Amino acid sequence: MTVFDDLVGQDQAISVLSRAAAAAGEAVRGGRGTGMTHAWLFTGPPGSGREEAARAFAAALLCSDGGCGHCDQCHQVLIGSHPDLESVRPEGLSYSVKQTRELILRAAGAPTQGRWRVILFEDADRATESAANALLKAIEEPPPRTVWLLCAPAPDDLMITIRSRCRQVTLTTPSTEAVAHVLATRDSVPWETATFAARAAQGHISRARSLALDEGTRHRREAVLGIPRSLTGVGECVSAAERLVKTAEEEAAAATAALNENETTELRRIYGEGSTGKGLNRGLVRGGAGALKELEDRQKSRATRIKRDSLDAALLELVSFYRDVLAMQFGAGVELANDDIRFDLDQLARSSTPEETLRRIDAIMRCRERLGANVNPQMAVEAMMLSLRGAA
Ligand SMILES: [Zn+2]
Repeated sequence: MTVFDDLVGQDQAISVLSRAAAAAGEAVRGGRGTGMTHAWLFTGPPGSGREEAARAFAAALLCSDGGCGHCDQCHQVLIGSHPDLESVRPEGLSYSVKQTRELILRAAGAPTQGRWRVILFEDADRATESAANALLKAIEEPPPRTVWLLCAPAPDDLMITIRSRCRQVTLTTPSTEAVAHVLATRDSVPWETATFAARAAQGHISRARSLALDEGTRHRREAVLGIPRSLTGVGECVSAAERLVKTAEEEAAAATAALNENETTELRRIYGEGSTGKGLNRGLVRGGAGALKELEDRQKSRATRIKRDSLDAALLELVSFYRDVLAMQFGAGVELANDDIRFDLDQLARSSTPEETLRRIDAIMRCRERLGANVNPQMAVEAMMLSLRGAA
């Protein structure tokens, strides 16, 4: 077993990363100049596992055995508690220059355990322009033992000046079979459910896992995919918009609640609440309330981001519906993402034209753009529903 085992269908990336980690390890042991690339860029479509790949690489760099998967170093990296790995996500919708500068300062410190100091920068495409400029300066002149791992959907999402200084690792969408295989073997999901989930998630492994294991996720998917056939009148469009926005909010709330609870419990533990020790039994120790407030603010802006991401995911689910319809209209023999509702797809495929289907897909993409530009979600989604209906 190695830390790379969990990367599904990424053989090429794994071979690049494990060789690089092995070379870096040998150089460190030999006390030679490392020749290490100090900035790496992990790109790939949503769900291809960019962050997982970057994290596995971090473990391979920090483990003395190239990422064995079972030592202390590997374990700490994988659960996110390794002192030499700093993993950051944007706090709100984007990275601020302040957050980035603080990170760069911490990145400059020497590794505590003598190998590397690794900074995992998730969603690097969400850096504001000034944050990106600060980041560029940091990777232009990296301290000798600092390694930056940036993750973004596509190389084009980053400034060319940053991109050109990074070694690129490209992840691909794993096949339905590969995802189903993982669900069946590692999560003990029955084969039929595993194939359904893998197909519906279109190679998005964590989405597939959640579809296979969580009934709530399956219900929310059904609610979204039931929308097209419900758009029979203007009133129905308005209520479908309400439902979609609400479904996304529920999905976000479920995801947020799980994250928040752990963090808050952990912070309270650090600041001594619940402890019966002397001076601590009157609640939080000094500084605790401030830290808790700060955490709550951070959680609030994260909730906004998760809510936006969930709505976007629901819209992409709708796109997959109409893409399936289009495939049927063209008689393309491709795998349908929503094969389980073939009857609905077929009905719409017969009663509309490919041009109408394309206009519907356009309407959804326009809605995503408007949401990205901060238009009120209910309004944007309502307009989209009316176009979905009107295209017929
Ligand atoms: Zn290890």
